[in-house]
Amino acid sequence: MQLLDGKSCSQQIREEIAAKVQQIKASGKRAPHLAAILVGSDGASETYVANKVKDCEEVGFTSTLLRFAESVSEAELLQQISQLNDNDQIDGFIVQLPLPSQIDEHKITVAIDPGKDVDGFCPQNVGNLCLGLPTFVSATPNGIMELLARYHIDTEGKHCVVLGRSNIVGTPMSILMSRNTKPGNCTVTLAHSRTNNLKELCASADILIAAIGKAEFVDASMVKPDAIVIDVGITRIEDASRASGFRLVGDVDFAAVSDKCSYITPVPGGVGPMTRASLLQNTLKAYLR
Ligand code: NAP
Repeated sequence: MQLLDGKSCSQQIREEIAAKVQQIKASGKRAPHLAAILVGSDGASETYVANKVKDCEEVGFTSTLLRFAESVSEAELLQQISQLNDNDQIDGFIVQLPLPSQIDEHKITVAIDPGKDVDGFCPQNVGNLCLGLPTFVSATPNGIMELLARYHIDTEGKHCVVLGRSNIVGTPMSILMSRNTKPGNCTVTLAHSRTNNLKELCASADILIAAIGKAEFVDASMVKPDAIVIDVGITRIEDASRASGFRLVGDVDFAAVSDKCSYITPVPGGVGPMTRASLLQNTLKAYLR
């Protein structure tokens, strides 16, 4: 078994981006600029946004964090989005989800200028993805494609099972793996909580991508010998042996599965860092447009 090391791969991507930003600045131009909207003070959202700001600083991007109270109205948020759309000093921006219940996430997503939608969530970018047109691919599927490409994994003609059909991970992942691209050209099955014979289906996959958010759900019996296993899930489980009292695990039982497969992403250190690097790639792309 070989580890698909997202940490080192993402570090390589960050260094490439940082070198490009240095060139841009040396030519007298301004740095790429990412803005993030954060509503409320949910712990996980705070951490994700803080990491995005830190990542920007590390590669030389400018970043702006716009905070709003939990009680913010939809109209106020839409006004902020309109200002960001019109601001030619901002190349891309994200609205950290989830949003409080008084705000319709769909209304917010569709208000973002598709050219600045570096999360790739707006309908136009999702539509472009389906049509194989230039777009911003959402960060997690994009990061997984990059990881497969950088490890020169041959995916052509393989049966890929994607577990989970969310709009931000499973569904775009299934589209990307089925496209006539490299990596890609898989025969894809998109599975979810209503799928029959899930275990047998997973065990028939040459490539298994698990994105369901159920700790260590995929056991060794669900994995074909020498399969390629991509673990997207991140769940905190209690662990009294850690100072923090918890540890992070994926959707795959790593200890049991790693002996059976040919490649596997660890959790943490697999898909997570690739997701972070992808947002930087998308921001640079938005700037270069
Ligand atoms: P989500 O929106 O909750 O979607 C979960 C999907 O899994 C749904 O399609 C659901 O099916 C399916 N599912 C749930 N239980 C299942 C079961 N027992 N058998 C088969 N399918 C099942 O989740 P998400 O946003 O895609 O995230 C999934 C996981 O990835 C989470 O742990 C999340 O934290 C993690 N994540 C990690 C990264 C990263 O950077 N590493 C990025 C994004 C997400 P139904 O549609 O039928 O309900």
